[in-house]
Amino acid sequence: MSDRLELAGRALQRPLCNHCLGRLFAFVSRGLSNEQRGMLVRSSMEEAPQPPANFSDCSICRGLFEEINKFAELSTRESEGYEFSTFLVGTKIDAEIVEAEEALWAEVGAKETESIKAEMNREIGKVLERMLGKTVDFGNPEAVFLIDTRFDKVVLEITPLFVYGRYRKLSRELPQTRWPCRECRGKGCPRCGGKGRMYELSVQDLTGPVVMKHAEGTEDFFHGMGREDIDARMLGNGRPFVVEIRRPRRRTLDMSSIQAEINAQAMGLVEVEGLRPSNRTEMRDIKESTHPKTYRVRVRFQHAIEHGKLNELVAGLAGKPVRQLTPNRVAHRRAHLERVRTIRSMKVESVDGPEAVFVVEADSGTYIKELMHGDEGRTKPNVAELVGVPCEVVELDVIGIGDKGA
Ligand SMILES: [Zn+2]
Ligand SMILES: [Zn+2]
Repeated sequence: MSDRLELAGRALQRPLCNHCLGRLFAFVSRGLSNEQRGMLVRSSMEEAPQPPANFSDCSICRGLFEEINKFAELSTRESEGYEFSTFLVGTKIDAEIVEAEEALWAEVGAKETESIKAEMNREIGKVLERMLGKTVDFGNPEAVFLIDTRFDKVVLEITPLFVYGRYRKLSRELPQTRWPCRECRGKGCPRCGGKGRMYELSVQDLTGPVVMKHAEGTEDFFHGMGREDIDARMLGNGRPFVVEIRRPRRRTLDMSSIQAEINAQAMGLVEVEGLRPSNRTEMRDIKESTHPKTYRVRVRFQHAIEHGKLNELVAGLAGKPVRQLTPNRVAHRRAHLERVRTIRSMKVESVDGPEAVFVVEADSGTYIKELMHGDEGRTKPNVAELVGVPCEVVELDVIGIGDKGA
């Protein structure tokens, strides 16, 4: 201990408050505040100077610790009207204070120190826990107070709210997300009739705004587990998605009434189910997941083909890799790439004259329309080629996401 007392003696050549003295020994013992450590160090010295009568005379912090309650009050005011149960504090400290502190460490050879910023964050956090009746959370706080101690300014960051669900899309004229007009990029022009959009509605428009109204947020984002073509329906158990709401004032939502409201307003274009709270990690998992998909696709051949014969011709596709160059229809907005996907199963469900209905289970990202008609040879092998008869796709539905359409 005597080395430490000597260090304290050197440090106390200048006026130091107990916080700033104690911080020099922050990692010596646990369970005390730096202020208590400072008092303890002083009392174990033979002739220690008293802390400065005015906090503002402390040569390091210049009285910053006297302002903790003020910062906590400013923060409380800033957070009025927001629901959250956990929070974190971050502070900006005057560079001169930080430099003075680091110069002191170097001068007296202090090595068990904590920064003034770390102490301020923690001490304001303690006061706020009492004032707000909420808890500090380092991992996943719902609110973050960024306190600029130089200008008494508090910025409140609110963690977005995430809501999980599954949607069925029963329309063949509905994109998954808002699609700004290509011509005017959303401003409104003759091409889009002043609406700024290519399509008036989307799955996003029918879900996000309802959640946002209840959460009282400022912006909504839609994250789907992949997406289907605009003219493809999404059936079966539906497609998992997460709605993200920025700056929500409410976090505790009545999911069943939101679900009922979405379904009532969507007029049969979209149905959602399984709404529940989610989080950023799940949202990322959903966006990145690559589950196989099961499709039902109705195809019209140039002439009728007998059911058994058709089954025989396409049976060989199951388990086979298919090479697909970027389809002509999306080439204007996607890079020209070759992708290889596996067809997991393929069967002919029904045949009616020249029309046949197939059920296909394929890797995530397979272009199913191109798998059928071949896209002028850009997808190989393909059904039209195997059968030896050109065909076109009449209707496409996604009927399941995940193995065996589960
Ligand atoms: Zn001080
Ligand atoms: Zn436009």
